[in-house]
Amino acid sequence: MALTETSARLTVLTGPSGVGKGTLVTRLRERHPSLWLSVSATTRAPRDGERDGQHYFFHTRERFDALVAEGGLLEWAEFAGNCYGTPRQPVEAQLAEGSPVLLEIELEGARQVRRSFPQAFQIFLAPPSFDELEQRIRGRGTDSEEAIQKRLARARQELEAQAEFDAVVVNDDLELALAELERLMGLQGTSLA
Ligand code: ADP
Ligand code: 5GP
Repeated sequence: MALTETSARLTVLTGPSGVGKGTLVTRLRERHPSLWLSVSATTRAPRDGERDGQHYFFHTRERFDALVAEGGLLEWAEFAGNCYGTPRQPVEAQLAEGSPVLLEIELEGARQVRRSFPQAFQIFLAPPSFDELEQRIRGRGTDSEEAIQKRLARARQELEAQAEFDAVVVNDDLELALAELERLMGLQGTSLA
């Protein structure tokens, strides 16, 4: 089935590195087990504790390029020196089954999905301030100084694009941001909490 023929809800969540996307997505999935999160392919090296097939599919650049060439990715982009992309088939299968689907992807990927699947609901997650964003990236302690600088430069570009999105959620108080995401995604009724 073509992606555009499905009626199930596809949500795209975008926001600068360190804003709290991963934290909020983990909370959303705990509270709404029926929400299906796409596992992306990437050429980035795994961080401590990240598992292949669970957090990402970790690929060589050659394998990633082959996936692109065979049309296996719904969208893909380069981010801070690495490639990231959404495997197409599992997303189409989940939507065809009627499951709500969530993509947590950066700006260029969100733009590609906007063109190929305009029905998707696109949410931008913003930090309360740029200083707070920098503190969160540094506080996470997972990235080198070079990677932090690339991510902060990219963050400025992403923040300028927030008006393109259907909704903007500011992740200041985590619980309030979580509630707002649930409301926007129509998930309140399905919570186990
Ligand atoms: P992203 O996935 O967007 O790169 P993370 O989820 O890894 O961001 O969060 C980056 C850091 O910010 C983590 O250390 C996380 O615990 C922290 N964080 C997330 N949300 C908040 C919040 N609302 N207030 C304070 N710190 C937060
Ligand atoms: P990280 O390296 O911090 O896990 O992710 C870096 C950035 O890549 C984040 O903004 C994240 O949203 C984005 N990203 C993760 N998976 C994908 C994907 O499949 N496609 C695109 N376009 N971006 C992705």
